[in-house]
Amino acid sequence: MQTAITERLAQLRTQLNDYNYQYYVLDDPSVPDAEYDRLMQELKALESQHPDLISPDSPTQKVGGEPVSAFGEVEHEVPMLSLDNAFDQDEFRAFEKRIRDRLKRELSISYCCEPKLDGLAVSLLYENGKLVRGATRGDGRTGENITANVKTIANLPLTLRGEDFPARLEVRGEVFMTRQGFEQLNQTQAKKGGKVFVNPRNAAAGSLRQLDSRITASRPLRIYLYSMGLVEGERQPLADNHHGRLQQLKSWGLPLCPETRLVEDSAGCDRFYTDILGRRDSLGYEIDGVVIKVDNMALQQELGFVARAPRWAIAWKFPAQEEMTRLLDVEFQV
Ligand code: NAD
Repeated sequence: MQTAITERLAQLRTQLNDYNYQYYVLDDPSVPDAEYDRLMQELKALESQHPDLISPDSPTQKVGGEPVSAFGEVEHEVPMLSLDNAFDQDEFRAFEKRIRDRLKRELSISYCCEPKLDGLAVSLLYENGKLVRGATRGDGRTGENITANVKTIANLPLTLRGEDFPARLEVRGEVFMTRQGFEQLNQTQAKKGGKVFVNPRNAAAGSLRQLDSRITASRPLRIYLYSMGLVEGERQPLADNHHGRLQQLKSWGLPLCPETRLVEDSAGCDRFYTDILGRRDSLGYEIDGVVIKVDNMALQQELGFVARAPRWAIAWKFPAQEEMTRLLDVEFQV
């Protein structure tokens, strides 16, 4: 029995590590996300039944994939983590219960609700208002230096507005491709006999992780910012809640997702989820769920982190929309 479990654990870890490599390093997944998520859920369940068999190199303990050295490395002074997932309302309720149990007191909790953009996480560093560095998330501790590439993103300012931004400000967000940009790119690629992309997420990741930034510049990439990372030399106090901090980013000229909402309680999160799920196909970009974050920064700090994700946030995923059709060749030139 124990041998069968150990064997299954090893099988799942090898399989998921391979999928991670294809997805994060090659930008070329071979299975649909729903299939990956199913295997990951199975691994998590087995590990929680047999905690003595958890190994530090298990995909449940790691973020993303190894950075590709050809880009040059960036150490994240504040780690870039992943998010825990909820796949239905019961799992979202369980997330809220875990928070309440941990805080051990009655209090009202507001949440910042954001669409879960299906793209690629990046870190951007502004020094004295100038964009000086861009990096991928990589394995969460070390990312790839993609400064020249992020500078080509059309809606990303190279210089912040106003004068009250911090002297060093690291912001994080998702680089993505609009549906329209994706369709046009694929038409152009097909016309010139180039490789076409499977979905906007792959197109965005493959376009951003190019060694030649002229190729990136020719791709219709967009970004929305969703958090601050390292902050030094504040010239005005940072807001004490996440939503307020997003408004500060906006005041400095950084683009935010217009769908983000502050809600008073978990019933508000339910309404946000249902509303966005209903409008999913009419948004100009692909999303694969919503991200719910405890809004109060002091509570976030009190709740802290586990190995690969914060305890104060959850990605509440939408039901799988479609199984991936056989992958077409995805462009990758690293
Ligand atoms: P995740 O996608 O579940 O959640 C974390 C990421 O969400 C962040 O890094 C960020 O990029 C993104 N995000 C989007 N909007 C956000 C917002 N408003 N606020 C904060 N973050 C936001 O975790 P992950 O570790 O990046 O990826 C895991 C998922 O990727 C899997 O669940 C699976 O769907 C997919 N995946 C698929 C394969 C495959 O082979 N098909 C392989 C690996 C991963």
